[in-house]
Amino acid sequence: MRKYIKNDAEENDYFLCPDEELLDDLIEGLVENKKRYGYPSCPCRDASGLKTYDSDIICPCEYRDVDVDEYGMCYCGLFVSEEVKKDPSKLGPIPERRPSEIIEAAAEAGNDKNKVEKTPLSEKEGSIKVWRCTVCGYLAGRETPPPVCPICKAKAERFVVFKNLS
Ligand code: SF4
Repeated sequence: MRKYIKNDAEENDYFLCPDEELLDDLIEGLVENKKRYGYPSCPCRDASGLKTYDSDIICPCEYRDVDVDEYGMCYCGLFVSEEVKKDPSKLGPIPERRPSEIIEAAAEAGNDKNKVEKTPLSEKEGSIKVWRCTVCGYLAGRETPPPVCPICKAKAERFVVFKNLS
């Protein structure tokens, strides 16, 4: 997991958390979540245990790039900008960008494990596509469109298939 995270940071010109203890805890959290759910969901957020609902918070999450761009760090502080790397005192809590609609829908689905079978979204699963938000242009690679755009909060209906990856 450490190697995977390190490689991802290098490929995207990010740096890893300058607080070694926090870095170890976050990586341990990712390993635990991978064991528990089968995918490394964000160690700072509650996962539903249903991939359809958690796909936006599988690390690196869909909110990382905009958060590092705006605040110099992702929500957990696992990925940081060069500025924060050089001055760890800038490491601190940042606002949650994940829309409350998604958090609520995921929590509700997590309490009702049959829900994923009932939702129309599951009918579209099985192939990865790049979805484009027709309102702001945000791109997301996933099986189904994001329930809500993390950037402009447009609903899933406003997403169109930009590219089929499989
Ligand atoms: S907030 Fe950071 S640690 Fe959490 S999923 Fe996003 S990139 Fe990973």
